[in-house]
Amino acid sequence: MSSPVWHPFAQHALIPEFPIITHGEGAWLERADGKRILDAISSWWVITHGHRHPRIVAAVKDQIDRLDQAIFANFTHQPAEDLAHGLLAIAPPGLAHVFYSDSGSTAVEVALKMALGYWRNRGEKRSRIIALEHAYHGDTVGPMSAGARGVFNAAYEPLLFDVARLPFPSPGREQQTLDALEREAPQAAALIVEPLICGAGGMLIYSPGTLREMKRICERHGTLFIADEVMTGFGRTGTLFACGQADIAPDILCLAKGLTGGSLPLAATLATRAIFDAHYSTDRSRTFFHSSSFTANPVACAAATANLAIWRDENVLDRIAALGAMQAERLNLFRTDGRFADVRRLGTITALDLNVPDPGYLAGLGPKLMAFFLDRGLLLRPLGNTIYIMPPYCVTAQELDLLYDAIREAAAKFA
Ligand SMILES: *Cc1c(COP(=O)(O)O)cnc(C)c1O
Repeated sequence: MSSPVWHPFAQHALIPEFPIITHGEGAWLERADGKRILDAISSWWVITHGHRHPRIVAAVKDQIDRLDQAIFANFTHQPAEDLAHGLLAIAPPGLAHVFYSDSGSTAVEVALKMALGYWRNRGEKRSRIIALEHAYHGDTVGPMSAGARGVFNAAYEPLLFDVARLPFPSPGREQQTLDALEREAPQAAALIVEPLICGAGGMLIYSPGTLREMKRICERHGTLFIADEVMTGFGRTGTLFACGQADIAPDILCLAKGLTGGSLPLAATLATRAIFDAHYSTDRSRTFFHSSSFTANPVACAAATANLAIWRDENVLDRIAALGAMQAERLNLFRTDGRFADVRRLGTITALDLNVPDPGYLAGLGPKLMAFFLDRGLLLRPLGNTIYIMPPYCVTAQELDLLYDAIREAAAKFA
């Protein structure tokens, strides 16, 4: 019998059946037929330490035995309080309040609404959002509006709001980005960026110096600076947060994916005192009007607090540095291979583009490559002709070898 399930970003007419996953352990997933798959994209960028880290599993079991879920409007609970204190202790300076939601997209929606609320409550007409070319901020309507336009959102274009778009600051072209920002910032409510790397836009990297300069321009014009660290947060770029490499503190910080170590859905939007204070009033019309049913689910908060404890106790940064070095060593062998272009790395993430005549999304190279790797027990999900590896931090050198050997084989077949 065919499945009634409608899958995300999947064209069912092209792939009638999907493998059933039954187990996860460390860097591996296991299928119902017993085959193992190396999870080289961390199950869509969420798994940081590995599947089912024992401390996260224990925290989840412990919490579910006490409180499963409670309304969070006008009530609170210890898991949410503990997590908020834990996040503020490690977040860039100046962030003072934590708003919970359930996904990266909602973390960004909340950030955009906070920015608009801030300006409205201050009585200033600033509502325009500035965003980067190639940006991705999620798939609900607000984040889609801030994200790059293309085949993924063409059907929904009539719903999307207009934003000021900055050219991507590719190496050597940073000044164009900064000049465009300088023009747009004085009228705008906020700039939203993925710091240092545009993920879904193709793993495109830009410099910490440019990120720092963008922040300076925003500061000069009072424009709020939103860092969408949904993907980059929790170590992906080699530091706990990507903003740390530019030594900047955003006005609003969006976290999701790795917040619970990837174990449960949870998001947090952190804001400065000034943004909170703009909503703080005995006048109820100035309330921050946002909630979702599962805001601050206690089990998810407990998982996130266990994740923070792992970061505190386990030298995760050393592990990440070692992973970065192992990635670099293997990646460097591809730098002189003419079948690849733009061989690049940021922290634990590597990416390289396969030289093919038509790299467009609809040419379908991505799914063909994915099937090729899956045949070899490897979960990679190329973005068009961009092959990237974003593994859980527990991945071993031998496991990385499997991946790079397969990429070499793929080049022989597809390039
Ligand atoms: C994945 C992602 C999102 C959206 O997160 P979801 O949990 O999938 O809604 C937002 N921003 C960035 C930078 C992302 O990579």
